[in-house]
Amino acid sequence: MKGKVLREILREFGLDFYVKYVYCGKEKCRSCPHGPYLYASRREEGKVKNVYLGKADASLLAKRDEIVKKVSQLIVEYEREKRFVEEGFKKKLSDLLQDLLQGEQLD
Ligand SMILES: [Zn+2]
Repeated sequence: MKGKVLREILREFGLDFYVKYVYCGKEKCRSCPHGPYLYASRREEGKVKNVYLGKADASLLAKRDEIVKKVSQLIVEYEREKRFVEEGFKKKLSDLLQDLLQGEQLD
């Protein structure tokens, strides 16, 4: 699995996850920075849109990892299917050419 392809697909579908700590800006806050929080970003009409998903605890991070793993598996399946379809397509084209060449020989 190429990391770049995975990253692009995650980004396209709004599953580009990142963990962030947040400074609340309150003057007397003793617990800054807050978090970690999990976000996902996606590009919409050229703009990056960030979605807050919740506190980045073990269960949410496990969910994120599970999603990333499933997306990788889907990409592998897709690539396999695509190759299969492409091979079928090339075979059909090649068969058409074969038919043509055989036709020529008969003439
Ligand atoms: Zn704070």
